[in-house]
Amino acid sequence: MSQQEMLGVESVEAFRDRAAVWLDAHAPRRSPEGWAVAQQEVTRERERDLVIAAKLFQSELFAAGLTGLRWPRPYGGHELTVSHEIALAEAAAPFDLPTGFVFSITFGMCGPTVLAHGTEPQKRRYIEPMLRGAEIWCQLFSEPGAGSDLAAIGSSAVLDGDHWVVNGQKVWSSGAHYSDFGLLLARTAPELPKHRGLTMFIVDMRAPGVTVRPLRQMNGAEHFNEVFFDDLRIPAGNVVGQVNEGWRTAITTLMNERVALGGGGDSERKAGLANLFELARAAGRYHDPVVRDRLARVYIEHTIVGLIGQRVRDAVLRGAAPGPEGSVGKLATARSDKALAALAAEMSGARTAAWKQDDDRGGAAWADMLLSVPARSIAGGTDEVQKNIIGDRVLGLPREPESDRDAPFRDR
Ligand SMILES: Cc1cc2nc3c(=O)[nH]c(=O)nc-3n(C[C@H](O)[C@H](O)[C@H](O)COP(=O)(O)OP(=O)(O)OC[C@H]3O[C@@H](n4cnc5c(N)ncnc54)[C@H](O)[C@@H]3O)c2cc1C
Repeated sequence: MSQQEMLGVESVEAFRDRAAVWLDAHAPRRSPEGWAVAQQEVTRERERDLVIAAKLFQSELFAAGLTGLRWPRPYGGHELTVSHEIALAEAAAPFDLPTGFVFSITFGMCGPTVLAHGTEPQKRRYIEPMLRGAEIWCQLFSEPGAGSDLAAIGSSAVLDGDHWVVNGQKVWSSGAHYSDFGLLLARTAPELPKHRGLTMFIVDMRAPGVTVRPLRQMNGAEHFNEVFFDDLRIPAGNVVGQVNEGWRTAITTLMNERVALGGGGDSERKAGLANLFELARAAGRYHDPVVRDRLARVYIEHTIVGLIGQRVRDAVLRGAAPGPEGSVGKLATARSDKALAALAAEMSGARTAAWKQDDDRGGAAWADMLLSVPARSIAGGTDEVQKNIIGDRVLGLPREPESDRDAPFRDR
């Protein structure tokens, strides 16, 4: 009997087999058609269906014991090992899980932040409903005047008895319109320097004082929003981490975000590559030496991105704090995805601009990808910001000068 079995933990092999059988019965397999559909414009109507399907699937994953593998048991997790998590990722690779982008912020950023910095009552209240698929979370950080310079956040929170009163505006808040809760970063001490007077809060997205307005992107989707707070009252018990220590709490969220954006999606990447090669064949360009040269470059870049992602995931799974390698992965992912989309659009030719509904070469999907990939150089920190992080923390170059770093925020 293995040590795991003696401790009453399902062996990795048995777990992998159980997961594969369950997924085979409950999840759609990846296919070129499925990939093309997934790339197409997500209208709010289509999104409503995707959200319902994601919540249902997440509840089924929970009932089957296939989520929250390494999260603590008192909050609905299983306290399993890194090897179980890898086994699940491998078993899930051939499938297109409906949880996709809907739960990516909930599990990739908000859950880990609440687990790392939340109070015991917060963990008991919020973690299990995430795992059960009952509640979706969003990230309320960026503002019109605070993106790359996130510490410049101007939304204010003022203590009034046992509540904080919040006023201000957020922007680019992905999924805020279907989220139940959000992690909000607001300024609680304008007399302190900009990094030291911020606090993180849990916001009920349906509370009075929260207004969510859609923003339309150039690919036609309305994936993100502007969010306004007008005298929103947040109970004092909703502070995550310490008051005025929100920057430290936010770093946990941002590091996890970079890993989520730069360290994942291996099977999706392989599906994109396979479809690119198929497109080259269908367009009669597969033997064109110039196209072959570019295909080879895209293939090499994507393979390297896959290896970087693997390295990042392995480090995180081993328990190492996500570090600047997340920035390397994110930068490389943005670059290689843009190269892939550009080559596909070129080979697709006029189909990328005007396609028939039954276009079997995925014209709509490539067009949408071409219009969506530029966002990868912005979301989760721009390419330039990732380069600054790499210069500073990996290459040991001098830090970028920040003249307002130590001044009180209100005197900037
Ligand atoms: C698809 C998508 C989803 C998003 N989802 C969310 C979300 O859910 N929640 C959330 O809070 N935010 C979200 N964001 C916002 C995102 O984090 C910001 O857009 C990003 O941090 C950049 O900030 P900004 O848009 O204000 O650009 P700015 O910071 O104004 O940057 C403008 C330009 O200046 C450059 N620049 C800025 N500072 C420097 C510097 N120091 N050195 C060199 N160049 C610099 C930038 O690289 C960029 O090219 C999302 C963005 C996108 C595109």
